[in-house]
Amino acid sequence: MEPGAKPVAAKVVGATAGAGASDTRSARAAMVSKLRKQGVEDERVLAAMQAVERHRFVDSALSYQAYEDTSLPIGLGQTISKPNVVARMIELLIQGRSERPHRILDIGTGCGYQAAVLSHLSQEVYSIERLRGLHEKARENLRHFRLSNVHLILGDGMQGFPKGAPYAGIIAAAGGEAIPDAWIEQLAVGGRIVAPAQTGPGRQNLVVIDKTPHGVKQTVLEAVLFVPLKSGVV
Ligand code: SAH
Repeated sequence: MEPGAKPVAAKVVGATAGAGASDTRSARAAMVSKLRKQGVEDERVLAAMQAVERHRFVDSALSYQAYEDTSLPIGLGQTISKPNVVARMIELLIQGRSERPHRILDIGTGCGYQAAVLSHLSQEVYSIERLRGLHEKARENLRHFRLSNVHLILGDGMQGFPKGAPYAGIIAAAGGEAIPDAWIEQLAVGGRIVAPAQTGPGRQNLVVIDKTPHGVKQTVLEAVLFVPLKSGVV
């Protein structure tokens, strides 16, 4: 639990791995109303966050915390981002698009939660992970949902995934020194990248890159804290 985190509300305690969907629906509704208060406005994103059972992506010992505003360990030293961060990044990713984006590249599958949320919002999701253990865990976690539009790839996301390109959007849950050129190359014109990147010594910010017919525009947003983007597959 993060420092200063409050004990879990009684209704959330029902969110054990074995609990039925109805037991966790109200916990998700509480999470969604908190997201609204935190400034998430896109109804499509809020509906997707309401739909995806986050407790199925974390260890059963942690599932009672699944709907809290906290990041959680998912094994191999990695973490699943806070719901607030997931919602904020996806909201930025699809901002201003009235149609469902065609293809999204999700860098850092982790436990597969973000890929599942994205599957409700785009036509195809390509999600790439460099750690075999997590790639396999995500496959297991996602099996339950039978999401035919999520494609899991074991590979180095720093190279993007050229086979699925061009992407309407690229989103990363791990931050490197800079946004890799491969991502910009594989982005469609009119597409957007939302990712953490280093902006100074020990400083990481959320960065938005828009590829326009006139060139690439970068916007630096709030400071964030993501796990490092690393190269190679292990
Ligand atoms: N979106 C994930 C968050 C996982 S944390 C979820 O919903 O659970 C970020 C993940 O990025 C980690 O699993 C880490 O192994 C992975 N990662 C880091 N560098 C990577 C790279 N070059 N290619 C693919 N995955 C990478």
